Amino acid sequence: MSVYISVDLQRQIRAKFAACCAYCHTAEYLTVTNFEFEHITPLSSGGETVFENLCLSCPSCNRYKASRQSFWDEETKQQVSLLNPQQQIWSEHFAWSENGTEIIALDSVGRVTVSALKMNRPQLVRVRKMWVRLGEHPPNI
Ligand SMILES: [Zn+2]
Repeated sequence: MSVYISVDLQRQIRAKFAACCAYCHTAEYLTVTNFEFEHITPLSSGGETVFENLCLSCPSCNRYKASRQSFWDEETKQQVSLLNPQQQIWSEHFAWSENGTEIIALDSVGRVTVSALKMNRPQLVRVRKMWVRLGEHPPNI
């Protein structure tokens, strides 16, 4: 669904997330696509088009998240809320692997978000290896 988001609001969101995907932390400038403004609580669940409910997302994370707000955690056998990039701090739930190519989940929020959004999909891990070699990854945010 496409919703009007003012240029000023787009600028605020892009600045808040340092022009990186709020989920997988891919830097927009390293890709060949424009990132999207993702409703953290989907419009279909009553989420509003306001700063507090929007984040910058790469198209892949946005597609995999879709209208999800939670996902099954195999470890705790519970439905767990996905990361809310506006209310939670990325580094409290995720870390980079030593070589910078994989996202390590630090807790249940991290696990379900990595899993639901396929944040370590093989194509992305491969391209991260190239970005690491170029000194462009992981982002310093
Ligand atoms: Zn992403």
